[in-house]
Amino acid sequence: MPLSRRHFLAGAGLAGGALLAGTPVPALARAPLADTPTTGALRRKVGSAEVTALLDGYIDIEPEMFIGLDAAEAAQLAEAGFQVPDPRRTPVNAYLVNLGDRLVLVDAGTSNSMGPTLGRLPAAIEAAGVTLAQVDTVLITHMHPDHINGVLTSEGEALFPNAELVVTATDYAFWHDDANMNQATDEAKPFFVGARRAAAAYADRLRQIEGEAEAVASIQTVPLPGHTPGHAGFIIESDGEALFIWGDVVHMATYQFARPDWSIAFDVDPDLAAETRKRALDRVAADRMLIAGMHLPFPGFGHVARDGDAYSFVPAEWPYEL
Ligand SMILES: [Zn+2]
Repeated sequence: MPLSRRHFLAGAGLAGGALLAGTPVPALARAPLADTPTTGALRRKVGSAEVTALLDGYIDIEPEMFIGLDAAEAAQLAEAGFQVPDPRRTPVNAYLVNLGDRLVLVDAGTSNSMGPTLGRLPAAIEAAGVTLAQVDTVLITHMHPDHINGVLTSEGEALFPNAELVVTATDYAFWHDDANMNQATDEAKPFFVGARRAAAAYADRLRQIEGEAEAVASIQTVPLPGHTPGHAGFIIESDGEALFIWGDVVHMATYQFARPDWSIAFDVDPDLAAETRKRALDRVAADRMLIAGMHLPFPGFGHVARDGDAYSFVPAEWPYEL
């Protein structure tokens, strides 16, 4: 039943009377501070499908990592976003899509490859009430470590015993090209090693997709090149509703909705990434599309509003109808 002003006023009167008559209750059952983060899993409906946002953890990205960034404007945006000036914290999300007849994980976080602030995806999957063995398909937006390394256990074995691993053919080719690896900086070389290890662990159940392929029934691939050559998003459609999981179109919400021309140093092609970002922002704003992103504030469900050349992120309303 919706809460109305009439109910609220009636309730407030009773509560006020009760409070006046009582005395404060001493805190006998004080809970100790946990000193650990909680597990992040939050579910919403998209048509008749259920999509659960899963939090792998967070990373800190310093402003210098953004190409074309203006320091004064960045500081202003950080202040307007109630953030400390340096560094900027950004989440690493993944999404579990239950289509009813198939359980699909979109991206898999980091496993133990990026430090103690990350690697919580298995706990989040457990909190979502499913087992690793129930995951049928793992779709990968791109083969960067914060998206694909989580398909492995900390010992480097396949985490999902029954799932097929689906990657774009373009990303697979890029990360398996020795010339690309030899040219890469020392910082980027581990990306190649991680992508290859993950793919190798699923070699007997690896599938490559191209272009706007239907990744699985009801999930359409959307090429979003630039961040990596084969970077892609996925549109989930169910009963007339849709959700666009756009991977890494945005790495830092505080900056890149206002300044979509600021790219990140991890981009394989920063100019193309910025072009792709503007096109994606334009499309979802014009179509009023529900989106989710791997580095949007958890749970990352929302919409994009356009204001001239700038955009803003509008978090989605409470996501589940009981
Ligand atoms: Zn990422």
